[in-house]
Amino acid sequence: MTVRPMSTLPADEAVLRAVAKKVKRIDDSIYALVEDMIDSMRAANGVGLAAPQIGVSLKVVVIEMPAASPFVMINPEIVKRSGARRITEGCLSVPGYLGEVIRSTRVTAKGMSLDGKEIRIRAEDDVLAQALEHEINHINGIVYIDQVVSPDRLWSREELEARARAADEAEAKAETNAEDSPESDDDE
Ligand SMILES: [Zn+2]
Repeated sequence: MTVRPMSTLPADEAVLRAVAKKVKRIDDSIYALVEDMIDSMRAANGVGLAAPQIGVSLKVVVIEMPAASPFVMINPEIVKRSGARRITEGCLSVPGYLGEVIRSTRVTAKGMSLDGKEIRIRAEDDVLAQALEHEINHINGIVYIDQVVSPDRLWSREELEARARAADEAEAKAETNAEDSPESDDDE
């Protein structure tokens, strides 16, 4: 088991912003890479990881949904997408931040399994659909922070914690007010 250090922005801009190379031959080096990717993803509590995130500029992606087995896609690409939904996501390569992005509702990705067979994964309106787009973006040098709906929709953990505290305080206050006057309106 080898957990490799995570490439992060801005330090590892070069590998995270590069279009990764296609895998030409699935050999022992790819098997070893995939093992390290799965170990590294699990150690970081992620649901997906792309090879550039551990510093390897190759088109390899692993995804592991809760309560499902991990799977590997070699040279994956999105072959079909439709619909749009606004969701908040984060990235192991941008620790401490969350941002709002538009993702497709339905996604079909095509790639190869570790034994060289073509695989197609279809997902709709779930974390898998989101992960397919997020990870396949990674191998094309795209990080989700490039796609946030607007600059003020990217939040640092500090901002989010402050916001949560403010919401708790507002809620506590609202409860106090509600005791005083049951008719009081919530202002947002
Ligand atoms: Zn990511």
